[in-house]
Amino acid sequence: MSDPFLQIRGIRKEYGKLVAVQNVDLDIRRGEFMTFLGPSGSGKSTTLYILAGFESPSSGDILLNGQSLLSTPSHLRQIGMVFQRYTLFPHLTVGENIAFPLKVRRRSKAEIDAKVREMLRLVRLEGFEDRKPAQMSGGQQQRVALARALAYDPPVLLMDEPLSALDKKLREEIQHEIRRIHQETEVTILYVTHDQEEALRMSDRIAVFSKGVIDQVGTGSQLYAEPATRFVAEFIGDSD
Ligand code: ADP
Ligand code: MG
Repeated sequence: MSDPFLQIRGIRKEYGKLVAVQNVDLDIRRGEFMTFLGPSGSGKSTTLYILAGFESPSSGDILLNGQSLLSTPSHLRQIGMVFQRYTLFPHLTVGENIAFPLKVRRRSKAEIDAKVREMLRLVRLEGFEDRKPAQMSGGQQQRVALARALAYDPPVLLMDEPLSALDKKLREEIQHEIRRIHQETEVTILYVTHDQEEALRMSDRIAVFSKGVIDQVGTGSQLYAEPATRFVAEFIGDSD
């Protein structure tokens, strides 16, 4: 078998005396939708920030296509991000927000214009190009954030509780959009949520975090049928 696309190897992160995550080992396939599920404080975001390059691990390594990522600075990692508070630039229009990562990468104007149109179509916001973020709903803003994150075709997309500020109906609508986009593009998604239902609905596989370690990795039905720990049984079983 060829090497997995993304390999997380023995990641540990300490903040002073606090061990935020330890022994995090995970192989992620190209194109997979992998969810980090767990309660608040279990180490999901820390792991994602290490992937993003916002934090360095105390030990361990991350390999993308067999190459260590850790020496690559955050902005060169080819990883798109949508975070709950990683908000849009308020002074830029929707189109300018989506164009931003392409301008940084010095793409031509023609390429940028074409890509902005393609991304607006992908997130179903045609006609919104000249609006400012403040003139749009929270759900529309998150779709723009998604368009911006995907604009330069990163092979990996990280999403940290991107929908937690939205109401239930909007959340379900955007969950659906994210799944559709995952199917239409080849992007590999690492998705963080504390919501069991959301994890079960969206993911190819789920890594269940508890107190800084991964208790179990599997499909939703594997976790349901054969929980490895009491914690997994109770946490997964909690969904209504
Ligand atoms: P989750 O995303 O699952 O809610 P986090 O990864 O944010 O969990 O946090 C894991 C643990 O690490 C928590 O105990 C949290 O308080 C701690 N932690 C996270 N970031 C920092 C930081 N910058 N400084 C100190 N402790 C932190
Ligand atoms: Mg978090």
